[in-house]
Amino acid sequence: MTLPLTTTDATALLGVYARVGPLFVAGEGSELIAEDGTRYLDFVAGIAVNALGYNSPVIREAVLRALDSGLIHVSNLYRTEPGERLAAELTKSFGGEGGQVFFCNSGAEANEGAFKFARKWSKRTEIVAFTGSFHGRLFASLAATDRPDYRRPFEPLLAGVQILPLGDVEAAMRAITAGRTAAVIIEPVQGEGGVRPVPDEFLVFLRQLCTETGTALIFDEVQCGLGRTGTLFASEASGVVPDMCTLAKPLGGGLPMGAILVSDRIAGAIAPGDHATTFGGGPFVATVALDVVRTIADPDFLADVRAKGELLGARLQSLSTASRRVKEARGRGLMWGLELNEGAAPIAAAARERHLLVLTAGPTVIRIVPPLTVTREDLERGATILAEVLA
Ligand code: PLP
Repeated sequence: MTLPLTTTDATALLGVYARVGPLFVAGEGSELIAEDGTRYLDFVAGIAVNALGYNSPVIREAVLRALDSGLIHVSNLYRTEPGERLAAELTKSFGGEGGQVFFCNSGAEANEGAFKFARKWSKRTEIVAFTGSFHGRLFASLAATDRPDYRRPFEPLLAGVQILPLGDVEAAMRAITAGRTAAVIIEPVQGEGGVRPVPDEFLVFLRQLCTETGTALIFDEVQCGLGRTGTLFASEASGVVPDMCTLAKPLGGGLPMGAILVSDRIAGAIAPGDHATTFGGGPFVATVALDVVRTIADPDFLADVRAKGELLGARLQSLSTASRRVKEARGRGLMWGLELNEGAAPIAAAARERHLLVLTAGPTVIRIVPPLTVTREDLERGATILAEVLA
């Protein structure tokens, strides 16, 4: 692989990111390659996007095939095949109730669309979310995100959004009512908020309450969905089928794509003109996404994710037992958090010094979301580096 010589800097980019580390110029499997040729083991995976790893033959082949058709974009005013196939594949895999799909371009957009659909269907306005949530940074999704520091500079955001204590049944029963609540949104496994699997009983309770009150239950599976937790949808672990499920991150294989899976009941309330996007579900991204979804949905692929998740989980649990600096290891599949007794950012920086990339999730949690194709050897290697850093 030849590495391009670069002479750029980041000064022309708007300063909304505190970028760290070297300039990356290539990738292979679970490794990112810096301009000086140094290889970094990547347990960030583009923040849970690069499920099939770098330079994936599946994605390469799909991209070339998509190019061969000559169609990168055709307006949603017309029909194209890849989006229709992808929608059929997603509805077939999800919940068994039929349903329809709206394609968009990101996770936040998917959640914003789901809120609109819930309002149109329920003819109500209020939205309920939970502590620890992250649903995006647009005006409605940010209102439902439990990060006051992200929200404050941009208020007023969407009105009528309540954030309830996660797992608090009484608070939910008081707040979620047949008169007012349009939608309840929850991540079955919270990501940004600290890698927290939500207890199945709470999801079952929300399903019941939403059914009783005629409220739309939205599962935000933007980060935890599409194989990340070892099942195609994270909700499968609880057996709960929501009214809508939002997807994004890994869906397009690194190309921007989001989706809202909508139950037949709610889809019945949506008419032409209620929502739209210029780019969503175009033939190029949909061709790639179809191959990504088919690859991940393969039962052998998912079994491998679960097996590797157990290996990673066991390594992190023993790290947690061995190190007084670690309070707890928690997660599912290949989505893990290490809750520390100290700040997580210096630990992530120390790991980077040793050529391992990990994320933080809040101030004290190290988040680990490697490509789903990561090898067992790379998991062992990464866990060993983390153990050294925490020693
Ligand atoms: N929902 C969840 C659970 C997420 O983790 C994210 C991003 O991290 C979003 C929504 C927003 O997605 P996007 O950054 O694609 O808008």
